[in-house]
Amino acid sequence: MSATAVEVLGIDAGGTMTDTFFVRTDGEFVVGKSQSNPDNEALAIVESAHDALALWNLGVEEVFADLVTSVYSGTAMLNRVVQRKGLRVGLIVNRGMEDFHRMGRGIQCYLGYSLEDRLHLNTHRYDAPLVPADCTVGVTERVDGQGDVVIPLREAEVYAAVDKLIKKKVEAIAICLLHAHKNGGHERRVAQICREVLHQRGVDIPVFASTDYYPTRKESHRSNTTIMEAYAAEPSRQTLRRIREQMLALGGKFDLRVMASHGGTISWRAKELARTLVSGPIGGVIGSKYLGEQLGYDNIACSDIGGTSFDMALITKGEFAIQKDPHMARLLVSLPLVAMDSVGAGAGSFVRIDPYSKSIRLGPDSAGYRVGVCWAASGIDTVTVTDCHVILGYLNPDNFLGGQIKLDVERARAAVKEQVADPLGLTVENAAAGVIELLDQSLRGHLRSMINAKGYNPIDFVCFSYGGAGPVHTYGYTQGLGFKDVVIPAWAAGFSAFGCASAEFEYRYDKSVDIAVAPGAGDAVKLASCVTLEQAWRELRDKVIEEFRINGFEAADISLKPGFSMQYLGQLNDLEIDSPLPSVASAADWERLVEAFDDTYARVYASAARSPELGFGITGAIMRGIVGVKKPQVPHEEFSGQIPPAAAVTGSRPFYRGGVWKEAKLYSMEALRAGNRVVGPAVIESPATTLVVPDGWVTELDNHRLFHLREV
Ligand code: AMP
Ligand code: MG
Repeated sequence: MSATAVEVLGIDAGGTMTDTFFVRTDGEFVVGKSQSNPDNEALAIVESAHDALALWNLGVEEVFADLVTSVYSGTAMLNRVVQRKGLRVGLIVNRGMEDFHRMGRGIQCYLGYSLEDRLHLNTHRYDAPLVPADCTVGVTERVDGQGDVVIPLREAEVYAAVDKLIKKKVEAIAICLLHAHKNGGHERRVAQICREVLHQRGVDIPVFASTDYYPTRKESHRSNTTIMEAYAAEPSRQTLRRIREQMLALGGKFDLRVMASHGGTISWRAKELARTLVSGPIGGVIGSKYLGEQLGYDNIACSDIGGTSFDMALITKGEFAIQKDPHMARLLVSLPLVAMDSVGAGAGSFVRIDPYSKSIRLGPDSAGYRVGVCWAASGIDTVTVTDCHVILGYLNPDNFLGGQIKLDVERARAAVKEQVADPLGLTVENAAAGVIELLDQSLRGHLRSMINAKGYNPIDFVCFSYGGAGPVHTYGYTQGLGFKDVVIPAWAAGFSAFGCASAEFEYRYDKSVDIAVAPGAGDAVKLASCVTLEQAWRELRDKVIEEFRINGFEAADISLKPGFSMQYLGQLNDLEIDSPLPSVASAADWERLVEAFDDTYARVYASAARSPELGFGITGAIMRGIVGVKKPQVPHEEFSGQIPPAAAVTGSRPFYRGGVWKEAKLYSMEALRAGNRVVGPAVIESPATTLVVPDGWVTELDNHRLFHLREV
């Protein structure tokens, strides 16, 4: 294969844009964009691929045949759950617990709310349950918290339950019994009976027992996750299959992987597809970690603005944090998720005037791929943030998606005048500038509190800013926070897709365990603890190997990374630790685990906070398996001078900020060279992103095509 063969494709099918990221064998890459197409994602991907490959003068057919690997991330599965467009699921639970899923946890009725709305009970809202009451059946049995059977399973009730669900015409069955993570015997027996009855009745539908999928404590989380698997995984697999078929039709024979919530990628054929429920915004965090590793940035504040949201994450000492019991689509789930904070504010957010307070409100809903009033064909009549950008000269109306979409400044002005400026008694430009300032201020507040709340200070962090609209607002949301450096990759618009392309092929499985070693415990207890942990690892290892086998890998190809969650006994939270040993079998091994935990604890909190006198507990076993894949290379260029080449200067445009119109110099991002320095007011344009350098700011492009932005 030649050095210029195209090998890797990363895809980010977001709510607004569908980005593709192609990497050649020599590490060179191109980014493509198209408008997302919620009805046919495959079409948007192909369109985006055309856009990217045109930069290399290549056709899609020429390239697809050579591709070795492709990673997809997107919002389709999450949307399916949010819009309740999944399968009709039947649920078998303990008798007496039939309403458990429907009632949900209290917190689920205000998830995603702003603080002021959380406080008011009358704003709380329960979403429709994934499984309706009449498709839920209880059966008698009980396993206690220790995993001991206290009431045997009444099998006759299970037979009746399956018959009832068949009559209800369910399309999948989920089984969630109390404490099944400690002892899955009853659940497996229920599953067996389900399959037996389904077979007899000639009904071919899948059966999901929580113990086989998500053997973790917390019944609500475990049942939500298992139900989601039954509800949304298969339909999503169909979407992925269609994408794959489209790629096959274009000559692509590679396997398709999907970004999973834990930050690794898994096959579209993977057994547990609910793990890919949240994949879109994770790409950027993985990309930041990868870029940080290559260039020596350890502490990174990741920030991504697209059309619909602002997503933030922290990488500390080269690692992102994992959230154990996150929520997705307003449901608590037991899936490991790359810890992120999201705010429903982006460049497509709607702008409205609160009729009571006469203040400007942004979002939380947005125009998505329909941009705003400025795009005449959008059908949108409510002002969006993008309309304000266009009015103020931030965005070039003839360069949206490289000019594929023409924006109409006058339409935007008329809408802002009527909906925002006139009601507030402002000029059109002051109203638009107010919206931008408000957005900047709110994002800045969120970024600051995310960092402070975790006990850090921005001075120790480099802020990475990306997403199509990230660079438009970088100055605004970083101003005054005091970051060590602010970095904008020239490929910001496709950064999440870049992250997908740089992610590992990695399965991760978790299992809850209850291990407690009290202070002063003897070697026998430590040894027994190792045996319990080892047993859980073995189970998880088998699952990892089984998944990779679907893709034709053997155990020997996989590098296995066992881990565990440990806490000082009595603590509420635990820390995830990579095991220093591949397996554990003695009291001395136990001490090694404890040491690894103690070290991490001192790093995350403080040495003085260590409390070994409390004893140690392990709450969960983790197994990750990784197979090597091709990754992009960070660009490397020779430095040229500070003065941008003449070809990079494309003209000037009136730009409004701080109450005055000034002429901003315009540059072409692609034509700028390493070492070039651009002093504001200036706007650096690219086909899918725009870097705004206001008055009093300056940016320099380094030799890795990263812009560094600062106030002078
Ligand atoms: P994303 O969802 O990350 O692709 O970001 C989309 C956003 O990028 C849009 O809503 C625009 O506000 C912003 N953007 C900045 N410059 C451009 C451009 N030249 N073309 C398209 N979108 C752009
Ligand atoms: Mg994006």
